Amino acid sequence: MKSLLADGYVVTMDDEGREHPDGWILVADGMVAAVGDGPEPEADERESLGGAVVTPGLVNTHHHLYQTLTRARAQQATLFEWLVELYPTWARIDAEAEYAAARTGLAELMLSGCTTVFDHHYVFPRGTGGLIEAEVQAARELGCRLVASRGSMDLGVSDGGLPPDELVEEVDAVLADTERLAADLHESGPGARIQIAVAPCSPFSVTGRLMTEAADLARRLGLNLHTHLAETVEEEAYCRELYGCTPVEYLDGLGWLAGDVWCAHCVHLSDAEIGRFAATGTGVAHCPTSNLRLGAGVAPVRAMRDAGVRVGLGVDGSASNERSHLFNEVKQALLVARGRGGPTAMTPREAIHLGTRGGAAVLGRDDLGAIEPGRCADLAVWAADGLELAGAADPVAGLVFAGPHRVERLYVGGEAVVRGGALVRADEREIARAHRVQAVRFAP
Ligand SMILES: [Zn+2]
Repeated sequence: MKSLLADGYVVTMDDEGREHPDGWILVADGMVAAVGDGPEPEADERESLGGAVVTPGLVNTHHHLYQTLTRARAQQATLFEWLVELYPTWARIDAEAEYAAARTGLAELMLSGCTTVFDHHYVFPRGTGGLIEAEVQAARELGCRLVASRGSMDLGVSDGGLPPDELVEEVDAVLADTERLAADLHESGPGARIQIAVAPCSPFSVTGRLMTEAADLARRLGLNLHTHLAETVEEEAYCRELYGCTPVEYLDGLGWLAGDVWCAHCVHLSDAEIGRFAATGTGVAHCPTSNLRLGAGVAPVRAMRDAGVRVGLGVDGSASNERSHLFNEVKQALLVARGRGGPTAMTPREAIHLGTRGGAAVLGRDDLGAIEPGRCADLAVWAADGLELAGAADPVAGLVFAGPHRVERLYVGGEAVVRGGALVRADEREIARAHRVQAVRFAP
């Protein structure tokens, strides 16, 4: 079965940056079979996109879906103050709440053009099970790809860490549960729908032993590694006091700067540390809105890109960026880069590249992030005939400058999971209603 999507302004994000203003995409078996303009190839069915702009589906490289349950709290707090206020509330999480939260966050992301979501879950209250399974179920139902992580914290407040003691776990229990989830859920190879990553939370909530043993386990199982790093000046001060070095030096010493690792934030990196990221192939999840919301600063993405560091975008958890809108992060990445480096610091197309190719590279996925043969038919279709793009001389640049937008259609593996700006497989009002029922349990 071959399907042709025609009459689109196709932005491929391939190595040559090819665009087809009057383009078509041929889809077969969930993959892109061909893309181009001019004479259309034979197909079993043909659908017109009516001049809409088509980009690769966006790839989210950092999130905490459960945080949709606790939005708009700790409104003037720094990261540490915000965490200390929210940890006790998060300790109430269970599988039912996680499922409602995941459906909400995933639906929001999909409606913002996102086809692949990484979620960093690290709160596992004692006696609760099924949290990762709940978000996997939500992703399977809604139809997006999910890279879920078995996160962890083992450095409680009585040992000098930030989280309360009741939220930390034993190292062996974390590793055993990670191995179990990987065996049950992780898919490898092109087109994988569900994957598992190994993601101890941060230098201020995890011991060096857990960081090291988690990395050993991930490398034995062939899973990628993720953590938070260099988000705030307070974190740097904490590491200098506790470990006598910067957060990046600390991670480097634990064998955590490598091609199978990506780190969230990386706001406070020296030039030498950026060079170290480039030399080791370590990736970065850039989360501009969250960093601005918490007053953490702006990551030096221009310098990272120039050095050759893999960089993708993340909305980050919904309690520090109350919107799970990944296209908004595409625009935000452009704006903060220009705020730091002037109007030439980032082009609109480079911003889209970060949110697509960049994110796929960060997740180690060469089957995602571009519209070209051999990659999954994960496509975001953006209407170009609305008020926002009226008069735009360049619809691709206009799309970014005028963002955010609700996606018109979204394809995952060639299947439409959003049509006419609405979820195909679920009703977003029902998702919001079910979420409200759970959210009251997390009231301040
Ligand atoms: Zn985060």
